Amino acid sequence: MSTPQVVVAMDWGGTWTRTAVIDRQGEILWQAREPNPQNGTKEEYLSNAEKLLSNAIQQAGGPVAGIGAAVAGPVEPTTGTFFQPPNLMVLDGISFKALWEEAFQVPVWVGNDANLAALGEHYFGAGKESADKGHPVKTLFYVTVSTGVGGGVVDKGSVFLGANGLTAEIGHTMVDTTVDALQCQCGARGCLEAIASGTGIERIAKQKLASGGFPDSALAALDAGLVDSEAVCDAAEKKDSLALSILEGAVSALAVGLTNVVHLFNPDMIVLGGGVTDGLVKLDLLPEIDRQIRDRAMSELHKEFQLTSARLGDSVGLAGAAALVWDQLGVER
Ligand SMILES: [Zn+2]
Repeated sequence: MSTPQVVVAMDWGGTWTRTAVIDRQGEILWQAREPNPQNGTKEEYLSNAEKLLSNAIQQAGGPVAGIGAAVAGPVEPTTGTFFQPPNLMVLDGISFKALWEEAFQVPVWVGNDANLAALGEHYFGAGKESADKGHPVKTLFYVTVSTGVGGGVVDKGSVFLGANGLTAEIGHTMVDTTVDALQCQCGARGCLEAIASGTGIERIAKQKLASGGFPDSALAALDAGLVDSEAVCDAAEKKDSLALSILEGAVSALAVGLTNVVHLFNPDMIVLGGGVTDGLVKLDLLPEIDRQIRDRAMSELHKEFQLTSARLGDSVGLAGAAALVWDQLGVER
């Protein structure tokens, strides 16, 4: 029997669960999005996920080659066990792979969403675009800069997982070792995430405004509840000096983190995604990040990378989950 032509993909985030039917070329043939149960129990989350998957399988209208799931949190790669996911703690220790293989009788693979986003961009996004132009990507490093900062690395077509599937946590690499370095939610100080994530930018803006030193900033005129990273980007677009200086800090922190990435992994492509990246792209700040990395790169060969923005937007997790299934099945795309 030949391999079915479609897979079912799931992207299980902190707030939403998305499902899709995707073909070998990464084309989304059908998709849906549902809010997660609010503070649900383990049973509620699991039955909701099963319902969504079974609906997607029905929508496929025929046999599916497998199920791929991208989940927001650490995943043990061989058993597909979720452990200590910060946003879905009730699901700690659950193996989706075992559960869903039993329920649906198809092979299931589960991965961390940032790792799979890297795989998605490699096969169906920025990496594919480069390959189509005759420059296949060997090592792609993906960074999502949104509520948090996460990363994934794809080397020679596969996610580089490390011993426990926990590589590429660029958000928790240290970029500030001074005494007043900001506290990160991971418990350490001076992490990239504390400075460049959406939550980090918001917190820095609120602290600066609370100090009262920026009465002329457009941000000072906003209700405190409306000050977030988007508002900071909007103000920066209007040349607000406080907003610009906060983003300058985020840009240089990202450049430090990515310089370390360049020296550690020697990527030929760095892809930046996530909502904060969208803001930085609008302000045309990616070339500045690129310049700062190149200024510090230790050799000409280390500088042979392209820095680009993600192509797949909100669909990156779904695309990556589909790519994981095709990859594991050894299917040519
Ligand atoms: Zn941290």
